[in-house]
Amino acid sequence: MLQNILAYQEIDKDLIKVENLLVSSEERKIASRAKSFLEESAKNVARMEKRAEELLSLYNDAKRSYDENAQLIHEYDALVPTLKSGDEATYLIKKVNQALDDIKALEKELASISKDMEDLAKSFNEFRAKYNAAGKEFLENREKYEKLKQEYAPVVKELKAKLEEQAKKIDPAILEKYKKRRADRIFPVLVEARGNKCGGCSMEISLKEMDKLRSKKIIECENCHRFIYYRE
Ligand SMILES: [Zn+2]
Repeated sequence: MLQNILAYQEIDKDLIKVENLLVSSEERKIASRAKSFLEESAKNVARMEKRAEELLSLYNDAKRSYDENAQLIHEYDALVPTLKSGDEATYLIKKVNQALDDIKALEKELASISKDMEDLAKSFNEFRAKYNAAGKEFLENREKYEKLKQEYAPVVKELKAKLEEQAKKIDPAILEKYKKRRADRIFPVLVEARGNKCGGCSMEISLKEMDKLRSKKIIECENCHRFIYYRE
């Protein structure tokens, strides 16, 4: 019984080696990094579009005020021939100067918004270049990764067939637990007891569990949930 599941684990170890080799391959890493960047990009584009809308709205507001002030000066100008007193003239000059000050400030504001718009357009172009490069990188490396996977496919197929064959000799309940641990990335699933300690996590095994281990030859670690086995 124990021998069978240990033999199963040995075959599985080779399969895990291949799986790790594929997962940690440069091709997969680069493709997955590029993919995350592409996925993140949607958020960046939305953010930039929102900012562009904000800037446009600010620009339109400032332009409207600018035009209004320009119109005011035009109207004040038309009033000059109708002035009747020095007081009226002083008042008009004051109003004209006020409008001129506003125009000056608005010109500055418009220039600043225009600069922000240019910067945003520049960032967007830079971003687009990066986006295109990431897209190309993703496709190239995904293809390379697929090729690599195909290269290893016969080995994987053979190991899986061996595992299936070996699985027939193992108690299904134990095998199911084994597979669950493996899926949780606990490996090796079966470890030999080191004295009265778990061979996986080194947790001390209680006296009660030690008795069980001696009689049943296999127990589950209460800490790391590996199977601990015992060989005479
Ligand atoms: Zn343990």
